[in-house]
Amino acid sequence: HARRIGPGMVQCYDPAMDSRALEILQRERLLREAIATGAFVLHFQPQTDLRTGELCGLEALVRWRHPHRGIVGPQEFIGFCEARGLISPIGRWVLREACRQMKAWLDAGWPQVPVAVNLSALEFRQRDMVAEVAEVLQSTGLPPSCLEIELTESVLMHPEDGAQDTLNALKALGVRIAIDDFGTGYSSLAYLKRYPLDQIKIDRSFVMDTPDNADDVAIVTAIVQMARSLQLQTVAEGVETQAQVELLRALGCDICQGHVVAAPMEAAALAAWWEAWQAGGMARARRSSPPP
Ligand code: C2E
Ligand code: MG
Ligand code: MG
Ligand code: MG
Repeated sequence: HARRIGPGMVQCYDPAMDSRALEILQRERLLREAIATGAFVLHFQPQTDLRTGELCGLEALVRWRHPHRGIVGPQEFIGFCEARGLISPIGRWVLREACRQMKAWLDAGWPQVPVAVNLSALEFRQRDMVAEVAEVLQSTGLPPSCLEIELTESVLMHPEDGAQDTLNALKALGVRIAIDDFGTGYSSLAYLKRYPLDQIKIDRSFVMDTPDNADDVAIVTAIVQMARSLQLQTVAEGVETQAQVELLRALGCDICQGHVVAAPMEAAALAAWWEAWQAGGMARARRSSPPP
């Protein structure tokens, strides 16, 4: 059961390797099937204005309806799909479905807020984003200002890939551009002035230990101040506590996204959340207005 793999090297038969290879093939088969049958679903997470509490955006987050395991999160399959060349059909579906759903909500009278779609660096480089986005906006009828593309810093670190042209062209369509997971990439701040950006999303890792951790408070403070002077909107990601909300509000951060407001949820559940949130807002407004 031994085979030669090079001069003087012998590899012993390793049944674990076969089972790993089998697992990868099995996984790939399942994902191809999922793509063919449309076994994906979008969850949406609201973003709210830290001053007014109003809804000011939604982020679309993809999930896989696994045949045996129920709903599976993107961390478990996006990277795999990229490696196996399966990401494009999923990304295209996400973009179209997010735009379709947002347009339906606008038609139902929801405020004109953007829906954010995540694009990995690989997707951004591989696909003709501009033509695709233009076509999807056209065919769904979503106003361009109601679409936001979330990119990570790694996309912007390789200007030789034509990121500049692509971003300028997306911007010319009227689409918004956000930098996701800000502060976690191999970042040079130079790109902040080079590219036509609208928003910076402060990574959850800087938010989660505030307000107790003084270093994290300093980092978040600095990011918010820099973003403000560059006239970029700031979103805090992964906000879980009221104490974090108070801190972020005091620092002048614009937007809150996290479990303290709501976790990502299916479209129907989000619609129910939106009803309740509006009612809560009206109740808050009534409480703060003087009695008749
Ligand atoms: P992300 O874009 O930074 O999305 C935020 C992640 O934080 C989401 O995880 C969300 O569920 C989670 N989150 C939100 N609020 C809280 C909170 O208060 N506490 C904690 N602990 N977590 C919170 P999710 O949905 O598992 O997505 C993970 C990542 O997968 C995303 O990070 C994004 O990079 C990627 N992703 C999601 N959907 C897509 C997609 O359609 N295409 C691509 N290329 N990537 C996607
Ligand atoms: Mg994101
Ligand atoms: Mg994010
Ligand atoms: Mg993030």
